This record gives sequence, C-alpha cells and structure tokens, in this order.
Amino acid sequence: MTTPPAQSESILEVRDLVKHYPLTQGILIKKQIGAVRAVDGVSFGLRQGETLGIVGESGCGKSTVAKMLVSLEKPTAGQILYKGEDVTKLSDRALKAVRRNIQMVFQDPYTSLNPRMTVGDIIGEPYDIHPEVAPKGSRRARVQELLDVVGLNPEYINRYPHQFSGGQRQRIGIARGLALRPEIIVADEPVSALDVSVQAQVVNLLERLQDEFGLSYAFIAHDLSVVRHISDRVAVMYLGRIVELGTDVQIYDHATHPYTQALLSAVPVPDPEAREGRERILLAGDVPSPANPPSGCRFRTRCWKAQERCAQEVPLLVVPPHLEGVGGPAEHPSACFFAEDMSATEE
Ligand code: ADP
Ligand code: MG
Repeated sequence: MTTPPAQSESILEVRDLVKHYPLTQGILIKKQIGAVRAVDGVSFGLRQGETLGIVGESGCGKSTVAKMLVSLEKPTAGQILYKGEDVTKLSDRALKAVRRNIQMVFQDPYTSLNPRMTVGDIIGEPYDIHPEVAPKGSRRARVQELLDVVGLNPEYINRYPHQFSGGQRQRIGIARGLALRPEIIVADEPVSALDVSVQAQVVNLLERLQDEFGLSYAFIAHDLSVVRHISDRVAVMYLGRIVELGTDVQIYDHATHPYTQALLSAVPVPDPEAREGRERILLAGDVPSPANPPSGCRFRTRCWKAQERCAQEVPLLVVPPHLEGVGGPAEHPSACFFAEDMSATEE
C-alpha cells in the first residue's frame, strides 16, 4: 500500500451523482414506465496519489459510477469536479483534455480488446484521438515502451490478443490505459475475470505503476478481500448509494454499517485463530430491484437491525452523531442510524 499525502486535496470530487436509466415499455411506441436508479446520490473525493476502493455486490452501480467518472455516461444529476472544475458542464473541446487525464481499465480482458487488431494498434489507438501525446513517427517506440512498462516483451507488438493469457491481456489493457499518461485510472474490476493466482500479479503491477507515475486510482471490486491490499480508503456501495466510507483500518477492523459487517463476515480468513469467534452473517433475501428500491434505508429489507425509523427516513452518509470522536480518526461516515463498531463491543 502506498501512503497518500495526509491532507491532500481531492483531484476528483463527486457530489450527489445520480444516474437513472429510463425503463420503457412497448416496441414501436416506447413509453417510459419508470427508471432504474443505478446510481442515486453518490459523493466521494479521490485524493492525489491514493487508491480508493469501491466495493459492492453485482448490480449496485459500480460500473455506472466508473463510466460517469471517465465521461462514458452522462450523469442524470450531480457534479464531477476534476481539480475543482465541473466536468459535466464542459464544452466538448475542454472535456477532451480532461478525458485524457482520466482513463479506464476494463473488467474483462477477453472482450474489451478488439480481436482483429494487433496489440500495438490496440495500445496506440488512443493516439488517434490525441496525436499530440505521441506524434506519428514516435508511436511504435512509445507502444514498445508501454509493453515493457507493464512487463510484456516489446517484441510482441505485432501479435493479436488471442495469443496472450488472461493476465497478459489485462496488462495490454493497462498499457492502453496508460498510453495518454493519465493522472487518474478508474479500474473497473480489473482482476475479477482472472484466475486467483494471476490476480495478485496484476494488483502488484498496478501498485508499481502507481508509484512510478504518481497515479490516483479508483479501484472497483465486488468483494472486500480484493481491494484490501491496494486501497488507502474504501467506499462500500449498496443499491446505488455509498453506505460506508473509511480508511482500510476503519473499514476492515472497525466497520460500523451492518452491510459492511455482513460483507466482511463472508471474506475468507486464512488465519484459523483470527477465524475463531467470528460469526458469518447471512443476509436474508436478495438485493431489491434498483427500479423499485425500499423506502428509507435501502438495506433495511435485509438488515437485522432495522426498525420503524429505517423505513421512514433516509440515513445520510455522515459520521453518526453517537460515534463522533469514538475510536480512531474521525471522517468515517456510515449511512446507518444504528451504526456500531462491533469490534469495540466484543471485549
Ligand atoms: P455493477 O457494476 O455494480 O454490477 P452496474 O453499474 O453495471 O452495476 O448496474 C447498476 C444497475 O443499473 C443494474 O441494475 C443494471 O442492470 C442497471 N443498468 C446498467 N446499465 C444500464 C443501461 N445502459 N440501461 C439500463 N439499466 C442499466
Ligand atoms: Mg460492474
């Protein structure tokens, strides 16, 4: 893990980000009958040089957040501030310059690389849009340098994606993400499609690149164990919202939201001693549909702590008043009226 500068400013700040997809009926005459609330009021800051892990079950809106961060999707509402400037309001020309600095690494290295293009063309493709970064004559050398940087043989430049393993393909995807020398990488489940044995190698590569190039990462995963090693802070999402946000210690050792606690209880613990006395929290039911989320707290339908109040009021992502100043550093917001540090009550 890299240590981020303590009080550094956010290079990227997201405020009340919302993405609703229209839900339509009818084939010829489409009628909007509702909306999928994929992302429904998400706020966080990404600090210079840090890795922010974003974790949550499939369908909770992680990829939608990622796509908005790199301007592949337009938010329904909310702001994305890059160095203080609202990206969602920029002209196409100004946006192009910002997009260069915020690049995405995709989840599936099998489907995200065009099988008919050589590795050199795949990695160098971003230069078609930004020729100023690598003038025509220098492209090949630049792509070979990128191959080397991600640990692949530069002589492979004329090969095709199918000639590589999954881990190697993800390295190609990462090289492409680095081509424009971005400041921020949004990595959407970059290791989820890979064998467990290869996952650590790719995570290690991302860490090395972060140090080498001073990158800031938004690192998305569906399970807490994957991001533990690489994250400085972690945001936990449920049904389109962040339910808890904290440093790695706050989240892994002092989680206060019942959903985070349930996710943690499902993470395998290799050390038998640490495993002892740990209870597996089994959540009731399935994740509700984002087209029709529960009133009040969205997690309440599966929460063992839920009470009347949870159906009536939406808990905001703030430091719970009853936990203010309790344990460690402040700034550990949790969207639960009954947030509680279980590790503190065990003794
Ligand atoms: P995650 O990456 O956490 O698995 P997504 O962001 O992909 O979640 O999806 C969040 C929700 O939004 C899901 O219910 C998904 O079906 C829905 N969704 C995503 N993209 C679209 C789209 N283009 N049109 C309609 N619904 C979508
Ligand atoms: Mg996804």
